Amino acid sequence: DILARLGGDEFGIVVDRSCEKSVASALAQQMIEIIQRPCLIDGEVIHVGASIGIASAPAHGMVRADLLKNADIALYHSKAAGRGVFHFFKPAMAEKILRRRALEKDLRKALLLRQFELYYQPQIDVANQKMIGLEGLLRWRHPQRGLMLPGEFLATAEEIHLSVPIGEWVLRTACGEAKLWPGSVTVAVNISSVQFEMKTFAALVGKALASVQLPGDRLEIEVSEDILLGDAETVRGTLNDLRAMGVRVAIDRFGTGIASLSQLVNFPFDKIKIDRSLVDVRNDGAKHRAIVRAICALGRGLGISTLAEGVETPEQLADVQSEGCDSIQGFYYSEAVPASKVMDLLSNLSAVARPRHDPSKRPA
Ligand code: C2E
Ligand code: CA
Ligand code: CA
Repeated sequence: DILARLGGDEFGIVVDRSCEKSVASALAQQMIEIIQRPCLIDGEVIHVGASIGIASAPAHGMVRADLLKNADIALYHSKAAGRGVFHFFKPAMAEKILRRRALEKDLRKALLLRQFELYYQPQIDVANQKMIGLEGLLRWRHPQRGLMLPGEFLATAEEIHLSVPIGEWVLRTACGEAKLWPGSVTVAVNISSVQFEMKTFAALVGKALASVQLPGDRLEIEVSEDILLGDAETVRGTLNDLRAMGVRVAIDRFGTGIASLSQLVNFPFDKIKIDRSLVDVRNDGAKHRAIVRAICALGRGLGISTLAEGVETPEQLADVQSEGCDSIQGFYYSEAVPASKVMDLLSNLSAVARPRHDPSKRPA
């Protein structure tokens, strides 16, 4: 047998004998099990894992290039299937993987080619109907596919380790653009858990602020509940470092995931963003309202402000208002707009926030 390193973290094994599928399966399974045993290096426990793709001659090709390509496609399939598994190549895998590969290839170039943009959606104070901030939402202007939403590419970006450089770009861009807005308007930036859990994150925020001289209290970081699954000390340390710079931290999509109410006491968050699934009362109105009411009461008790997301109709606005939410965000006032439109939005909304002319004609 031959074991070869193909590049970075990719290895190939050539098993040069007429082996049955079951033999290759057993070998692959054994490899995966051995590799994922933790090992001790310099006193640190290191966890690694492996995913495997298998192609065999003559069924999947007779020349080296074809066999490698097909094994690679099977490998991708294994990674997409959650890693730590092996798959044999099947022709049907190819098309899906090739499409995804193209997306990855384009994503790797997107930062360099300046294809990302931030759109901004206003956040409105319920009490005085004024715009208090804008949330930056990432868009990718793809040369062929047009304007893409984060749901179409962020997960892939994360898998190929691009979420950190993209997040850095988002942070710097948002700070730079916010610098041009009135001093009373904050900018909110979404940060992936991977990035938030890096020990260097607070320093990165500090640099982004300093490079454009934006005061820390103009920036809000939005994190999702899964940061609470990370190392509690690191998370708490970062929260404290951010707080020391005046940067506020909001917990995003609250009420949909794993966060428990008690964690709000243990971690110093400044804002709870109530997920739009709870604001959308079409299905389970009374229960959802009860949850929104409870979250708002809790926020008041703990001195954490609350924002209801996804407010689309006057009825929803009235509901969340009467349940005691401090601020709202949603298509009722505005969808996210390009940075160049923020000034228009500010002049329309900063005095008194008005709904857009026809809220029923909101984008899907
Ligand atoms: P999110 O942070 O919960 O952002 C709110 C999403 O809800 C946005 O979708 C926004 O366009 C949409 N939305 C706002 N108001 C309404 C409404 O009234 N009705 C409905 N139906 N939808 C509304 P978008 O821009 O597609 O972003 C999706 C998610 O992608 C975001 O959810 C956020 O988790 C993530 N994301 C966006 N930008 C970034 C970024 O720069 N970095 C990271 N890590 N994640 C980002
Ligand atoms: Ca958000
Ligand atoms: Ca949100």
